[in-house]
Amino acid sequence: MSDSTIPASVEIVDTVSVIGLGLIGGSFAKALKENGAARRVVGFDRSPDELTLGLSMGVIDDAASSLKQAVECADVVVLAVPVRAVEAVLTDVKRCFKENAILTDVGSVKGSFVKAVENVFADIAPEDRPIIVPGHPIAGSEKSGVAAANSSLFSNHKVILTPLSERNPQAVAQISAMWSSCGATVLEMGVDHHDDVLAATSHLPHLIAFSLVDTLAGEGDSKEIFKYAAGGFRDFTRIAASDPVMWSDIFLSNSASTLKVLDHFADDLAALRDAIANQDSKTLLGVFTRAKAARDHFSRILSGQAYTTIMNTKNVIFKMKPGGEVKGVIRVAGDKSMSHRSIMLGSLADGVTEVEGFLEGEDSLATLQAFRDMGVVIEGPDEGRVKIYGVGVNGLKQPPGPIYLGNSGTGMRLFAGLLAGQTFDTELTGDASLSTRPMERVAAPLRLMGAVIETGDQGRPPMKIKGSSPLKGMHYDMPMASAQVKSCLLLAGIYAEGETSVTEPAPTRDHTERMLNGFGYPVRREGATASLVGGGSLKATKIDVPADISSAAFFMVAASITPGAHLTLKHVGMNPTRVGIINILRAMGGKIEVSNESIVGGEPVADLTVSYSPLKGINIPEDQVPLAIDEFPVLFIAAVCAEGKTVLTGAEELRVKESDRIQVMADGLKALGVETLVTPDGIEIEGSEIGGGSVYSHGDHRIAMSFAVASLRAKGEIIINDCANVATSFPNFEALAKQVGMQISVEHE
Ligand code: NAP
Repeated sequence: MSDSTIPASVEIVDTVSVIGLGLIGGSFAKALKENGAARRVVGFDRSPDELTLGLSMGVIDDAASSLKQAVECADVVVLAVPVRAVEAVLTDVKRCFKENAILTDVGSVKGSFVKAVENVFADIAPEDRPIIVPGHPIAGSEKSGVAAANSSLFSNHKVILTPLSERNPQAVAQISAMWSSCGATVLEMGVDHHDDVLAATSHLPHLIAFSLVDTLAGEGDSKEIFKYAAGGFRDFTRIAASDPVMWSDIFLSNSASTLKVLDHFADDLAALRDAIANQDSKTLLGVFTRAKAARDHFSRILSGQAYTTIMNTKNVIFKMKPGGEVKGVIRVAGDKSMSHRSIMLGSLADGVTEVEGFLEGEDSLATLQAFRDMGVVIEGPDEGRVKIYGVGVNGLKQPPGPIYLGNSGTGMRLFAGLLAGQTFDTELTGDASLSTRPMERVAAPLRLMGAVIETGDQGRPPMKIKGSSPLKGMHYDMPMASAQVKSCLLLAGIYAEGETSVTEPAPTRDHTERMLNGFGYPVRREGATASLVGGGSLKATKIDVPADISSAAFFMVAASITPGAHLTLKHVGMNPTRVGIINILRAMGGKIEVSNESIVGGEPVADLTVSYSPLKGINIPEDQVPLAIDEFPVLFIAAVCAEGKTVLTGAEELRVKESDRIQVMADGLKALGVETLVTPDGIEIEGSEIGGGSVYSHGDHRIAMSFAVASLRAKGEIIINDCANVATSFPNFEALAKQVGMQISVEHE
């Protein structure tokens, strides 16, 4: 399907004739007239009264005295009669069309219109036929007749055109321009696809509404039922007040597509019946939670939002007043990597896994939906709480279609490993940005294990994974340090025969190994090699997702640089591959106390209490760089507030993150009057005073939050532009910043 673009060359049509001056024909005629999309709008209806009424209401300019006259004078003929009347109406006038006239329609079924046209014009030379552009406005009402004509009926609605294979682009553009002038969005799709889509989204719901009302109305005292019917019944059955003749026409004209989806629905309904009869709450919950998630997602689409509400906002600006305090006790948002993996492993476990502190970001929500599609019942998320009814390592079911992973590269690479060992085929897709990311780095080693995987153009998504391919464990020396590749192969290893081991050239995050252990699946670690043996099982567990240390880092630096500060950060993830921020801040003289240490889902967690302490510049040890890679933007702020020079080396990776973090930070600091020296693999920062000014985060959430922290020691106000992405990684940053005493105000432009 594609949005059509209307060439500027389209001219206003001279004469449009609308045949069938009912609700849709009358509304279209009236809108064309009001919007000046045709010089003359002629109407025809088999009922003279309707025609006279249309003329008197100003719906049309002229009334044709016959069908023939209406067709003969028109450059564009719009057929707006019931779908089953099309063939009879056209037969009468098939030789009356002007040269190059366009014939279009508004019918709800496109296959039957195209067939009628083929039948009628079969004996007419192609050059003597009108140009056909089938159309269908996705707008209407339960009313019928010209009296109900409404010129704004199509405004903000979709119109689907289904141009034929011998399409005439100019004619399609012409019809498209007419609908656009009525405020509609014009889309194109194939005839069969249209009929399948409409059977599911419009025809079946009408059938169910008619049937339900009929059943209940015949049940005992029907007045009772309608008297006590709640709003839900009214909403659900509103469409049963639609025109019976039109709808019986539609079902008979689109019988094949309707029967297909009706049979599917009947099977699902029967399964629900069985579940009720057998007191099977798991099946009921499964259907209802999946349906609710789908409906919520649909509501978000309807209101033009993606998974998280902020995605829609054009520009978010942080205005930071200089100074402020950092005091109190807070818990920052849950760790993204662990939120993600808790759903994956919880789904594969035996038993019910309860998760708290789940980060409701786009990536983890996409993973959650994918497992629902594979038959896992998942309740929530509800304020960070999720309940996963695990199906066991071999309990996943084939999803009904491709698995969509949004923007999540981690998701796609981890899923590839997990799905390589299933008995069913799957396809992994993502958004435009994910579709450009390299996937061969996981596909190639998975193939060595026996997986059958196809990647798209140049090794990019979509990934097509063939089920029932027996996997064999193997040893893999990773050419590059990647936690995603390692995790992918270990997950595939669960389904492989024998041992799978992965050696990494440099330490990478080990959340997958730790969480597998937390779920009772042993992963061995020897030096740089992680290994597991296939064929095991996972046991459900409770996971209180630790607060993300990368999010906590902003507040650690905030407290370290603010005189008088004393802040406790609760339940922070202390994974040794992530604690570089603590080691570096301590080396600079930072005061960080660790208490309440425990292990959750295989991961160490602790409370951190950070107090103000004068910092000094250091040469950051290179072995700490990979352990603090995401925290450097805020560490640069610590460096500016320290006495003396801080030197960072060995951090080339920082230049290819969401932004060139070193350059973007250097530019921002310069705008605040701080000079730095950018080097090819790092930066040198001399401690100095921070002024006020306006900086740009370049859409990088960590840069935005780092400059927010800088305001605590700034001499003037700091305006930070382009902060919308903060909401995806750290949804309540603003609230927590205010809670501890930072002087932040957020503006949406
Ligand atoms: P409507 O208000 O009943 O109008 C239908 C018009 O067609 C009436 O003027 C009717 O004339 C005329 N007509 C009926 N049978 C005819 C025949 N055998 N020969 C010649 N003219 C005939 O219906 P509508 O809602 O506008 O629907 C028209 C088309 O729009 C249908 O194909 C429908 O699928 C499509 N559509 C409807 C909706 C909706 O929500 N209503 C939405 C999208 C598309 P009389 O006045 O003499 O009956």
